[in-house]
Amino acid sequence: MSAVRYVSTRGRAPELGFTDVLLAGLATDGGLYVPEHWPTLPAHRPGSTYAQRAAQIVQLFVGDDLAPATVQRLCDEAYATFTHPAVVPLVQIDTENFVQELFHGPTLAFKDLALQLVGRMFDEVLRARGQRVTIVGATSGDTGSAAIDAVKHCANVDIVILYPHGRTSDVQRRQMTTVSSPNVRVAAVEGTFDDCQDLVKAMFNDAPFRERMQLSAANSINWARVMAQVVYYVVATDLLAAPVNVCVPSGNFGNVFSGWIARRMGASIDQLVVASNANDILERFINHDDMSTAPVVPSLSPSMDIQVSSNFERLLFEMNGRDGVQTAEQLQRLRAAGHLRVDAHQRAVHIDGRFQAARLDDTETLAVIDGTHRATGMLLDPHSAVGVGAVEKLRAAGRLAGTTVTLATAHPAKFPDAVERATGVRPALPAHLADLFDLPEHFTVLANDLSAVQQFVATTFA
Ligand SMILES: *Cc1c(COP(=O)(O)O)cnc(C)c1O
Repeated sequence: MSAVRYVSTRGRAPELGFTDVLLAGLATDGGLYVPEHWPTLPAHRPGSTYAQRAAQIVQLFVGDDLAPATVQRLCDEAYATFTHPAVVPLVQIDTENFVQELFHGPTLAFKDLALQLVGRMFDEVLRARGQRVTIVGATSGDTGSAAIDAVKHCANVDIVILYPHGRTSDVQRRQMTTVSSPNVRVAAVEGTFDDCQDLVKAMFNDAPFRERMQLSAANSINWARVMAQVVYYVVATDLLAAPVNVCVPSGNFGNVFSGWIARRMGASIDQLVVASNANDILERFINHDDMSTAPVVPSLSPSMDIQVSSNFERLLFEMNGRDGVQTAEQLQRLRAAGHLRVDAHQRAVHIDGRFQAARLDDTETLAVIDGTHRATGMLLDPHSAVGVGAVEKLRAAGRLAGTTVTLATAHPAKFPDAVERATGVRPALPAHLADLFDLPEHFTVLANDLSAVQQFVATTFA
């Protein structure tokens, strides 16, 4: 093992090693970190556990910043919090369609797969360095609870989570607001998820504040999360006859970019399918070469109610031949003019025939939940249903063929109202969350205003 170096997608931040990237989150030039080189996937050792496969892959990105025995221990601990022995079971729903259930972690969404590991990595690294950080994060619902659960016992981490007031499900909100740990604070911002995300980015771009508070990120701009998500794509291709398409209910583009990395490393993935709800900027980009921002529309799949997909920047950097200056200019134009154009050559090489996309509105989503339940007995949450429905649409249009794995990104009990509306069946919370509606809630409502939010962060743990 040797050191692994990371570069910023905007080309003007210092190169860093893994542990510095872990703690930094965003690069100082506003860009996102990616490894200098993409490693090659090591062969699958038959019979290895999820945690063993994870440690093998994660080590390639950690290099000698953490010893192999440490990486294996952290993976073992992280994935022992999952209630299914396979961690991410593959369920076949018909001849060519599989669902990979990513929701058996403590907070019932796929975010646990990355954050249970990343929280433990934070604590390990901070303890060794004798440091403390404050994680600030924006959540459309699921990141917040997953991040809180991952760090609530960490001695060296404080966490502040911002969520859009009134735009998460009751279960999502309560999973955040009912945690009473001295290092956890939750704020409801009067705005959308994109507003929350902009506030977090603005706090990071305020260098003195960032330094004073020792800010760190837990949302999907953090490289370590994207890294940890690569594992379940690899595990799916380990198990199924190659090659497979993977359909990803998408919002911030973090999950599907992990699939892109898995394919780049050599996992036998054919198409990556981006499934969108009514907030369809990614679908419009892939199908119609139209990346233009539009107002966020609330939907039944709130964790995908996003118009500016921050992790798309990592793909854009690759599309630009890793030219950070050009990437920064394009993003600047997207911000200023509200739309982004990529040239025909870039599309031909990186998008066409590599990515597929489809969108479902809420009515279609409910119909998929109902139809899947009737056909298979399986209850899909609305996010996962957008994925299953996207595959149905693309197959019907002749645009997708062969074995396809749809990622089930949340447990149905996280969105019980939508599931009940579609099927008449109200999914029950798993036993470890059965008292969720009996616990008191703790949160602060804040205006969509940077100085108000900075004040909240600065005074909370003082
Ligand atoms: C976060 C989330 C998504 C979107 O994932 P991205 O990485 O932001 O694309 C989809 N479904 C659920 C349930 C989520 O929590």
